[in-house]
Formats: sequence, C-alpha cells, structure tokens
Amino acid sequence: MTKTNQRLILLSIPLLAASNQLQADSDHEQHDAHVHGEAQMLIALDGTSLELEFKSPAMNIVGFEHQPKSEKQVNAVKAAMETLKQPNQIFTLSSDAQCNPVSIEVESPLAKHDGHDHDHEHDDGHKHDDDHKHHDDHKHDDDHKHEAESHSDFTAHYSFRCEQPAKLTKIEFDLFKRFPGTEQLEVQSISKKGQQKIDLTAGNNTLEL
Ligand SMILES: [Zn+2]
Repeated sequence: MTKTNQRLILLSIPLLAASNQLQADSDHEQHDAHVHGEAQMLIALDGTSLELEFKSPAMNIVGFEHQPKSEKQVNAVKAAMETLKQPNQIFTLSSDAQCNPVSIEVESPLAKHDGHDHDHEHDDGHKHDDDHKHHDDHKHDDDHKHEAESHSDFTAHYSFRCEQPAKLTKIEFDLFKRFPGTEQLEVQSISKKGQQKIDLTAGNNTLEL
C-alpha cells in the first residue's frame, strides 16, 4: 500500500463521520438505492489537504446502468471515465488557493469490461445482446424496471494539496454541463468554518466555503 492510499483511507474517516452526522440531522431521505438525477459530493478541507468524493448514479453519467452492450455504450463509459479523471471538467476551485491534484481515482462497475479475460467468456452472450439492442433502445420503461434491481454508480475521489487553503472560498461545479442527466448535487462539506450541506443545481452550482 502506498503512502497516498493510506492517507486517503485516513481522510475518508472524517468524510464518513461528517456524512453520517449530516444525514442524521437531515430530513432528506437517503436510502441504499440511489435516486436517478441526484448525485453526491463529500468535501473535506483539512489544513492544506482537500478531498472530494463524488458518487453518482451511472444513469446521470451515461444514461444506462447495465453493463455496456454495444460499442457505443462501451465508448460512452470510456469517455465518462476520461472526463471524470479531469477534475477541471467537474469543478473549479478558487484559483488563489493554488490547489494541485495529488491523486485521482475514478471507478465504475460498468468500466470493468476494459480488457481482461472477461471479454472472451461472453462471446455468445454478446451475439445475444446484439439481437436485443434495438429492443432495449426503445423500451425505456422496461429498462428502468430491470435496472431497479441492479443500480450502478460512478465514483471519483479527488485529492488536492492547496498552498493557500484560506483562499479556497468557493467551488463551482461544472459537472452539470458535462453530465446534463445530473439534476441535483447534494454537497456535504467540512472545513475550518464547520460543516454544511447544500443541494446544488445547474442554475445554482457554486458552494461557498
Ligand atoms: Zn439506478
């Protein structure tokens, strides 16, 4: 395990604690199953260390939550992963704070298709899927019911070091533009100024710290 990983685990603890406490205080229901259109961002600023943890239903990001079936869907997942790996596509930090990325991790069960032996086992399955592609594209309701049993997420963890953390006064979220399926971003943050929780939208996309 690298130093960076250890640090991320340690920093996840205050993030989770903050999340639990904030959720206990909130009347906003938060069940295990996610809500399409809603995404979450946990933010912790501790000294010069800034951590952001993003979690979103895959529906908001690529428009489906099953394993990618067609080449188009495989490419959509790849493109989304690439976008999420570029923090400046997702949010903008106060430039005066001089924050630089230390580590970025993006994950989704839908991206597990990349390479590996897995692909070869399902040659027959792929043919079968292709037969149904047309069908699926036109039956959104059926799709939705089916997916209720197997929701999928994209998660991203961004770790920054900020040279001037006191100057980090706002974070503007550009992800609404990148992923228009995102209607609401539930932001929970902890910084020197305490904890706050705010729901942001495309029209109100800035967190004041
Ligand atoms: Zn879902």
